Amino acid sequence: MSALRRRARARVEGTVQGVGFRPYVHRLAGELGLAGYVLNDAHGVLLEVEGEAGAVDQFLARLGPEAPPLAAIERLLVSEGSPVGDEQFVIRPSPRGERPDAPVTADSATCADCLAELFDPADRRYRYPFINCTNCGPRFTIVRGIPYDRPFTTMAGFRMCAQCLAEYENPRDRRFHAQPNACPECGPSLTLLDPGGAPLHSGDPLRAAAAALRAGRIVAVKGIGGYHLACRADDEAAVARLRARKHREDKPFALMAASLEQARALVMVGKAERALLTGPERPIVLAPRVDRAPVAPSVAPGAPELGVMLPYSPLHHLLLADCGCTLVMTSGNVSDEPIAFADDDAVARLGGIADLLLVHNRPIETRTDDSVLRVLAGGRRSFVRRSRGYVPGSVRLPDPALRPILACGAELKNTFCIAKGARAWVSHHIGDLENYETLRSFTDGIEHFERLFAVDPEVVAHDLHPEYLSTKYALERPGVELIGVQHHHAHLAAALAEHGERGPAVGAIFDGTGYGTDGTVWGGELLVGDLAGFHRAGALRAVRLPGGARAIREPWRVACAWLAAALGSEAELPPSLTGAVPARAWAQVGRLAERGTASPLTTSVGRLFDAVAALCGIRATVNYEGQAAIELEAACDPDERGSYPMELVQEDGLLVIDPRDTVRSVLGDIRAGAAVGAVASRFHTALARATVAACERIASAEQTDLVVLSGGVFQNRRLAEAVTGGLERAGLRVLIPERLPVGDGGISYGQAAVAACRLAISAR
Ligand code: ZN
Ligand code: ZN
Ligand code: FE
Repeated sequence: MSALRRRARARVEGTVQGVGFRPYVHRLAGELGLAGYVLNDAHGVLLEVEGEAGAVDQFLARLGPEAPPLAAIERLLVSEGSPVGDEQFVIRPSPRGERPDAPVTADSATCADCLAELFDPADRRYRYPFINCTNCGPRFTIVRGIPYDRPFTTMAGFRMCAQCLAEYENPRDRRFHAQPNACPECGPSLTLLDPGGAPLHSGDPLRAAAAALRAGRIVAVKGIGGYHLACRADDEAAVARLRARKHREDKPFALMAASLEQARALVMVGKAERALLTGPERPIVLAPRVDRAPVAPSVAPGAPELGVMLPYSPLHHLLLADCGCTLVMTSGNVSDEPIAFADDDAVARLGGIADLLLVHNRPIETRTDDSVLRVLAGGRRSFVRRSRGYVPGSVRLPDPALRPILACGAELKNTFCIAKGARAWVSHHIGDLENYETLRSFTDGIEHFERLFAVDPEVVAHDLHPEYLSTKYALERPGVELIGVQHHHAHLAAALAEHGERGPAVGAIFDGTGYGTDGTVWGGELLVGDLAGFHRAGALRAVRLPGGARAIREPWRVACAWLAAALGSEAELPPSLTGAVPARAWAQVGRLAERGTASPLTTSVGRLFDAVAALCGIRATVNYEGQAAIELEAACDPDERGSYPMELVQEDGLLVIDPRDTVRSVLGDIRAGAAVGAVASRFHTALARATVAACERIASAEQTDLVVLSGGVFQNRRLAEAVTGGLERAGLRVLIPERLPVGDGGISYGQAAVAACRLAISAR
């Protein structure tokens, strides 16, 4: 053996499995004439290279920088070994029986190489709807366990044919160890079903489905993370029929455009939107709609934005190419149920909605909805829902979890979070924990994540609301330490932690509902806090919520309460609500608000939006949470420069944002016949200015320059941009969630960050 011979061992941690890392290492070693081995194990990738010392140096220098596109190396540990005389470089099988610790990657959109083959008539996978390779395809949604190898995926039941196996075993092939590798000979296939679940034998199921869609039919399509319901987006009769059958009144439908050009005909696509639309995650991007966008009125009634995505699976690419038109692609469910993903259940649930079902026999292991986000001024991303394409990517914690943590999240738009060391894995979107099925996906999801990431939680963080099912689940977990985290503190901590900050910061946390430390319903909070704790420095003036939960579905009730607060008990039915609300009901609710019976106090900014929308005559009742606020934002006249008064008063040690003057001004304008667009716009400006002023005042008293904006209300683009702009002009630093949802989908991560910080403090 030559004296210049050297052997080095490298352990690579991070997202390195299922991303073509081993073949990449194999190629690199081959190029440099090195021998040794590489394998996937429970901690990531382990490799040893042996050969001429200079070549080993080069190998180690290039290993990180030239890694495949889907890989994310978090740690690279190199140690020296003694040469053993290896002559070849081999890929060794994964060892069995270890405790796994390796991350699984997110599902990734079809890559350019696979697309080229998909549409190449000479290719053996021409028009094969399950084409994929090492750089693309399903991952998280098909994983059952780890190491990430075919037997631990839902592809286990498909035996590769000789050709596929040859690709799979050839380190020079771009399908080397692509676990979902398949072809028309050996892989999954499509079937077209009638609404009763009986197979239709009418030639190519894809072409038949596309023809039905073009003719205005509704087709349920099995995708990557669940079923979609599809129909032509420009066919009002089809879209209206879909709405009626789905029992979904007004909530906007997402669209799938065939190409970026088609997307540009629908919404304003800036640089950041384009990057999101065409990236491997392929989320639904919410962007302002283009004038005369070619969509039926029922697609997104009253919404200023449209949600658009591009095809992300080969099946979608083929379907959209065959249809040639933009499709509505909404989740396959009835009203508020979770999206269907199991085949037996899909026919039962969707047979009454769809005219046809386009299904396939590759099982979906984990139901995963499409992710939804928008881009705010300045290029900041704002997640409405973080799920397919992003999950299970990890987010770092500023304070590493000294013991494994499970954070159970909130009630609505639930996610949970598992944390070990410095890494936190936030789950896919679970949904509203109010029925058996969502609760089941919550508990199943937790078990799945605990297995995938080998975490056995010793600490369980939860919301303070005793009635949340997520809280009850936490309290029932045996033998764990419990850490309760206040809802709005979790919002604050989540925004700090994802930016790697610890605080202290001022937090303007505006949302619909959260359990306060005083037992009232919070939702317009000015907090001062860090990861460990907080105090309440201010809040929106509290009003009664007449009838409790009913007032959330009937914004006119909150309008009544705000008018009573602003004008006294004499507040009469405003002209904008006559016709929508009977005078007797108005008087009754007024009395309820006055006495406080069945009417909890709330500081919710979400409810203030509801009240103003109702006063404007936009909505007396809503069909989904947040609808009134969305329509109030949509109504804003962009040319209006006026504002309303909104006072800041010091009361009982709290800085109170008092919108009673605002409410009086709104009413005055409405009575005087002012345009709703002007009123809506002035209200937004008034709230933004008051928020900026309140944050400035608290920041200077607390001697911090850091302000966090979070909570579902900040999904409102107009408000988020106005408050961010105002604070930045005042010289303050603004943090707003960009990697996790601004709404309650970000709560679990915030709970984990607080728990990790408290564990670190008590260990000191
Ligand atoms: Zn590919
Ligand atoms: Zn095959
Ligand atoms: Fe919230």
